[in-house]
Amino acid sequence: MQKITVAKGDGIGPEIMEATLNILEAAGAQIEWEEVEIGEKVYLGGNSSGIDHTAWDSIRRNKVFLKAPITTPQGKGYKSLNVTIRKSLGLYSNVRPCNSFHPFIKTKHPDMDVVVIRENEEDLYAGIEHQQTDEVVQCLKLITRPGCEKIVRYAFEYARLYKRKKVSCFIKDNIMKHTDGLFHRVFKEIAAEYPDIKSDSWIVDIGAARLADEPELFDVVVMPNLYGDVISDITAQISGSVGLAGSANIGDECAMFEAIHGSAPDIAGQNVANPSGLLRGAVMMLNHIGQTDVAEMINNAWLCTIEEGIHTRDIYKEGISKHLVSTKGFAEAVIQHLGQSPKKIKAVEFARDIKFNLPVYQRRQSANKVFKGVDVFVDWKGKNADELAEKLQILSKDMQLTMITNRGVKVWPHGFSETFCTDHWRCRYEVPNGQKGEKIAIADLLANAIKEDIDVIKTENLYEFDGVRGYSLGQGQ
Ligand code: NAD
Repeated sequence: MQKITVAKGDGIGPEIMEATLNILEAAGAQIEWEEVEIGEKVYLGGNSSGIDHTAWDSIRRNKVFLKAPITTPQGKGYKSLNVTIRKSLGLYSNVRPCNSFHPFIKTKHPDMDVVVIRENEEDLYAGIEHQQTDEVVQCLKLITRPGCEKIVRYAFEYARLYKRKKVSCFIKDNIMKHTDGLFHRVFKEIAAEYPDIKSDSWIVDIGAARLADEPELFDVVVMPNLYGDVISDITAQISGSVGLAGSANIGDECAMFEAIHGSAPDIAGQNVANPSGLLRGAVMMLNHIGQTDVAEMINNAWLCTIEEGIHTRDIYKEGISKHLVSTKGFAEAVIQHLGQSPKKIKAVEFARDIKFNLPVYQRRQSANKVFKGVDVFVDWKGKNADELAEKLQILSKDMQLTMITNRGVKVWPHGFSETFCTDHWRCRYEVPNGQKGEKIAIADLLANAIKEDIDVIKTENLYEFDGVRGYSLGQGQ
């Protein structure tokens, strides 16, 4: 008997969780669940994290968590509990298989069978945001080498173990050369270790467009967090419904299983929601804990239900579907089919003893890091960058003001009058060529800025790593 933690969540959560647990119980899953309360009630009870220590204790003790969707209350700065759980437990890999069930569920893509592997901890989901001036707010995009190595290796291991042919990487490194550039570089390094698996890379915009139009071109796709969030919803939706896909959040120690959709407050309490996403998440959970026979039995009963046209409202289509059923009715139909194999859709046979080869991250030897200058961000309400440059050029004796940008576009020297400027200026000071810079120069510069009443809102140091520039140029530089 495996102990797991269960949260029934918000909105449609309790209905689809009840349906799922009934099916698991009827199938003889060897699990004992411990229920915890997380989400809306906890938030509104005054706990701004949406989860209390008893829930954390249960999840950390049991290490396997089946979670229904929860509602993040709007406004008041509530942090997303999903992101908190994924990151606090180190659940770096979010696996979202999306395949179609043609001709039983309407889709324009009868042959699609795509697994989206989304990095789950980093990127803009670091949630580090600041308002810096009246007009400008900032969100920090953090991409790390360990994060990239772990997720990309996971994707290739997944492809190898599940006999997939290709791994595709989605990035935007034509624009974000350092952050998405690192993800892409690591992808190419690790792809070279898996010569038996094809690999390719796509700029995310055209990659997403092709995936939405011709998903048959893709097999396993791996990408940073935000792209994965958006694209996995699209991928699930074009396979038939966002209500169909399950999701596994995998870490080194713990794992969480859920549906990919949200709490659907618009249909909550009506007994119409499709429990398939959560059920398929639960099937992934059973595989994860080694109860593969039960996982197969449930999945095949689910396929029978689908191919017999027993459909919930979100996938019900006249001419294709046969019986419109409620959430409860759907679960009862799955239970009635336990032990049967689908007649037209291929029955599933899950691999046994899946063992991922995921070595512990090894930090590399530190690069030779050389200080090259500093970007000083200034809140200034003027319009003319030449005027700002004049004020700033006198602030440092050790570094030269070499460029000012506004929203990343160079506006000094030789800016264009057409460029729209906000009150947020990035002012680059560089150590003159051939000279050795010292970081103390920043302190001197900032002290002078205070004396001259220049409103510095933040600084970013500029470094070279083993002779390679570790910062972007200004647009137009
Ligand atoms: P949603 O996924 O809840 O709903 C989008 C649309 O899909 C709605 O029309 C809904 O009725 C439909 N839908 C979703 N699941 C369905 C199902 N199982 N059966 C039938 N129809 C289904 O997205 P949203 O409306 O943007 O978000 C609602 C809430 O869910 C928000 O508070 C959001 O923060 C939260 N959310 C939670 C999770 C999670 O817990 N993992 C994920 C996404 C969103």
